[in-house]
Amino acid sequence: MRLSKQFTKTRKNAPADEIARNAQLLIKAGFIHKEMAGVYAYLPLGLRVLENIKTIVREEMDNIGGQEVMMTTLQPRDIWEKTDRWDDKKVDNWFKTKLVNGTELGVGLTHEEPIVDALSDYVNSYKDLPIYIYQIQSKFRNELRAKSGLLRGREFTMKDMYTLARTQKEHEEVYEVVAAAYHRVYERLGIGDVTYRTAADGGIFTERFSDEFQTVSEIGEDTIYLHEAKRIAVNEEVYTDENLARLGLKKEELVAKKAVEVGNIFPLESKYTDALGVYYIDENGDKQSIIMGCYGIGISRIMGVLAELFADDRGLVWPENIAPYRAIITRLGDNESTVKVADKLYEDLKKAGITTLYDDRDARAGEKFADADLIGIPHRIVVSDKLVASDMFEYKQRTAQESEKLSYENLMNRFKL
Ligand code: ATP
Ligand code: MG
Repeated sequence: MRLSKQFTKTRKNAPADEIARNAQLLIKAGFIHKEMAGVYAYLPLGLRVLENIKTIVREEMDNIGGQEVMMTTLQPRDIWEKTDRWDDKKVDNWFKTKLVNGTELGVGLTHEEPIVDALSDYVNSYKDLPIYIYQIQSKFRNELRAKSGLLRGREFTMKDMYTLARTQKEHEEVYEVVAAAYHRVYERLGIGDVTYRTAADGGIFTERFSDEFQTVSEIGEDTIYLHEAKRIAVNEEVYTDENLARLGLKKEELVAKKAVEVGNIFPLESKYTDALGVYYIDENGDKQSIIMGCYGIGISRIMGVLAELFADDRGLVWPENIAPYRAIITRLGDNESTVKVADKLYEDLKKAGITTLYDDRDARAGEKFADADLIGIPHRIVVSDKLVASDMFEYKQRTAQESEKLSYENLMNRFKL
C-alpha cells in the first residue's frame, strides 16, 4: 500500500473524551474511527489487524475440528422465551427492535439459542456427535458503560464456539480440547505469558466454575488471584475459602492482579438443548440429553489489549504476526534514482510475500519517521538520495534503538525468518 494513496492520516489528538490508551493510539494512528461511545469503525490499517487476530483464532478452531458458520443478528423472540432469556429483567443488555408490523426482534448478543435451534434439523443420532461449531461476528450488548476503548464496546467482534457432546465425560474431554486451543491462541497473539486460565462464576444453572482467560494489565476491570507456578488464577468473584480448597490453592501462594477477560469458556450442561427440545438417540434407541459448552474470545477486545501492551511513548509496537504490514519503506528525497530504487524494493518485497507500506508521500523526514513509529510497523527501511548514492539501505526494527546500514542482499535476508 502506498501511503500517498491511503485515505487515512495520522492525527495529533484523539477525541478529548477518549481516555483509554488503546483507543487514543488507534485513533491517532488512523486504525479506528469512533462512531459513538463503545462503537468503532475499523479503517484499513485497523481492519488488517483485526483480520490477523481472526486468522489466528480461526486456524486454531479449525485445527480442533471447528466448523465455521455465520449466524444472524436479527433474532426471533420465541427461541429466547424457551430458555427464559428474552425478558429484560432476565437479560438486561439486549438491544431490541421491531418489524413494521410491530413484531419484536432481538439484536444478537450471543447465539446459544439460534445455534441449538438450527441444529435441531441435523442432530438426532449418537453418530452426529460430538460437534464443534463456531462463528466470528459482531455482537451487540447494551452495556451500561462503554469504556476503555475497544475493551468494552456496545458493538464488538467475538469468536464464539458451541460444542455438543453425548455425555458429561465426553463434554469434559471436548472442553479441555478447546481450552488447550485457547492457550495456543494467546501464545500466538504474544500474550501467552501474561494470560491465565482463571476459575470464575459458572452462571446460574451449574455448580461448576466457568474458566476465564485473563490477561494481566492495569487497565483490567477484573481482579484475579494468580498462582505463578501453576499458571492458574481465581477470579475475585469466586475467591472464597471453600472454592480455594476445591481448587487445591492456598491463599498465601496467590497474588492479586488487575486483568482483562480475553476469553470465557462455559459448561452449559443441557440447559439450552433441553429447553429447545434437541436430543439424540443413543445406541440402544433411547432419547438422551445433549451436553453443551460455549467458548467466547473477545476478538476486538484483544486488539485493544494488544494496543495497550505493545506500545511505547512513540506509538504502537505490533508483533510481527499482528501488524497491519510487516515492513514500511520510508522514502526520503525524490531524485529519479531514489524513486526507482524505492519502487523496486516495494515490488521485490511484495513478490517475496512481505506485506509492505510504502511511504512515498511528499513530507518531511521527521513526520515520516514519527508516523512509521506511531503506526507501529515492525521493520522500517529508509531509502534516501544519500543512501542510494552509496548503494545501501537503512534498516531498523521498531523495537530497536539503533538503525543499521545494509546492502540489498543483507536487507532481504532480514525477512527470511
Ligand atoms: P464481561 O464480564 O467483560 O462483561 P462477559 O462475561 O459478559 O464479559 P462473555 O459473554 O463471556 O462476556 O463473552 C465472551 C468474550 O467476549 C469475553 O471474554 C470478552 O473477551 C468479550 N466481550 C464481552 N463483552 C464485551 C464487550 N462489551 N466489548 C468487547 N468485548 C467483549
Ligand atoms: Mg465472561
